[in-house]
Amino acid sequence: MALIQCRECKKQISDLATACPSCGAPQIPSAPPVVFAPATVKRGIPFPKKPFICETCGTNAKPKLETKGSFLVELLLYLFFCLPGFIYTAWRMTTRQKVCPNCGGKMIGVATPRGRELVERYY
Ligand SMILES: [Zn+2]
Ligand SMILES: [Zn+2]
Repeated sequence: MALIQCRECKKQISDLATACPSCGAPQIPSAPPVVFAPATVKRGIPFPKKPFICETCGTNAKPKLETKGSFLVELLLYLFFCLPGFIYTAWRMTTRQKVCPNCGGKMIGVATPRGRELVERYY
């Protein structure tokens, strides 16, 4: 605590006194430094950990690569017929898609406009 001068009688009084003990003049307590509430920082979109987000549940995880068809069928086709085997392989490769490990939904890249939208909604 420090001593300040009374606004009225100029006597030394405690800066904690709300009124001068000598003349009774109300003292304005030393105003606490005005702290401006930090402007609400608009929370930017947090950068998702993984580059893919589920369109269905918003899971941001490493997508599972789901390949349609079965390797067994592929093998059999190769064993008995060569050409259908190639066609089957090509079909499996082209229909391969990224799926959500959580719900099996479609995973899309967060860099896409739709992906950004999902990130904003879920994060
Ligand atoms: Zn006074
Ligand atoms: Zn999902």
